[in-house]
Amino acid sequence: MASYLELSKPEAERLYEEAKNSYENYKAMNLRLDMSRGKPSSKQLSITDGILTVLKSGEDCYNENGFDCRNYGQLDGIPEAKKLFGDIIGANEDEIIIGGNSSLNLMYDALAKGMTNGFFESSRPWAKEDKIKFLCPVPGYDRHFTVCESFGIEMINVPMLEDGPDMDMVEKLTASDPLIKGIWCVPKYSNPEGKTYSDEVVRRFARLKPAAKDFKIFWDNAYVIHEIYDEGDSLLDILEESKKVGTEDRVFIFASTSKISYPGAGVAVVAGSAKTISYFKKLLSAQTISFDKLNSLRHVRYFKSADGMRKHMKLHAAVIRPKFELVLKMLDEQLKGIGIADWIKPRGGYFISLNTLNGCAKRTIALAKDAGITMTPAGATYPYGKDPTDSNIRIAPTYPPLDELKTAMEIFILCVKLAALEKILSK
Ligand code: PLP
Repeated sequence: MASYLELSKPEAERLYEEAKNSYENYKAMNLRLDMSRGKPSSKQLSITDGILTVLKSGEDCYNENGFDCRNYGQLDGIPEAKKLFGDIIGANEDEIIIGGNSSLNLMYDALAKGMTNGFFESSRPWAKEDKIKFLCPVPGYDRHFTVCESFGIEMINVPMLEDGPDMDMVEKLTASDPLIKGIWCVPKYSNPEGKTYSDEVVRRFARLKPAAKDFKIFWDNAYVIHEIYDEGDSLLDILEESKKVGTEDRVFIFASTSKISYPGAGVAVVAGSAKTISYFKKLLSAQTISFDKLNSLRHVRYFKSADGMRKHMKLHAAVIRPKFELVLKMLDEQLKGIGIADWIKPRGGYFISLNTLNGCAKRTIALAKDAGITMTPAGATYPYGKDPTDSNIRIAPTYPPLDELKTAMEIFILCVKLAALEKILSK
């Protein structure tokens, strides 16, 4: 198929009319379909339902040390949970805290502690500065940006390249500005692009020389074992790489079972150097007596080991792989080679990121909305909701059943075409 950008005006008008007719037909169907948030489908949730009954009586609630998990105590988590999650993210027992139900909450908390208390490299709380700044690889995860916005932290966009953030830019900016206190990273199957940082990028992170001695890397490894195919991407261990060069106090690693067991009812963890974890734990002790150890215990008993958890992820993959493949096939069949969109084929994670022609993302989403398709708002993948080129769209294929996903994608693709043709015809 020829590029839309080279069409004659009558040809573009004909294609527009054709797409518009199909679009209006769909619109008349009054559909209500959702491709907005990266949620597991109910079929996926059911995979883990065995976890609901692993603790059947009070007798089952004692951990391997004979500790009664129904009670207060063990603020940083029970040892068997530390072992399980430590194996997944590469942390020793003194380098991890087993938290509550949400890693975002731990991220917010770590950042809040920076604001109110500061970190041990500097006794000065971040909030004492007129303004602090965070680097935000873009496109990125909207909720990271919302956390920064809620604290009035200035966000600086750093483009994502093929293998991670533009490290030349990260190195240059962090070296020159002591008010840049942190960076958000989703290093494996990034949200929304599904990219995994290369070894070189991870090593450059470990070797950063920021002007702020209390600079922190927020390493949100949300998709650490979320492969779609048997052969997944591999990510270098940032904690290990940092230890090699003595920068391990700089990293906070986060993960959770939100997309392994249940979102909102899973287990979240934070890891870092022993020093970081001991500092975090001390501050945490003022704020809670302990997290939900019964849920940690349930996860340990159900998954048994890191390998058990990885095996379980294959069951999720079997449900979501056909959805990713359907979306990618439809994009290939209907949008490839016509010059109005490009996208990335991820090997894991929860999203497919698509770029429209510049200036067309908002219009595409608005057209989809009018036809009953809810998508992540255009701009959401950028700080302040401002995509400078108005082109990035996040597709979340996991939640709808396959037949609904197919219809939603048919309509979405028509919207991409309509928005592009409107732009081409307006010239
Ligand atoms: N981090 C990333 C990159 C995510 O995509 C998500 C959810 O979509 C989360 C964190 C939320 O994690 P949790 O449910 O553990 O708060």
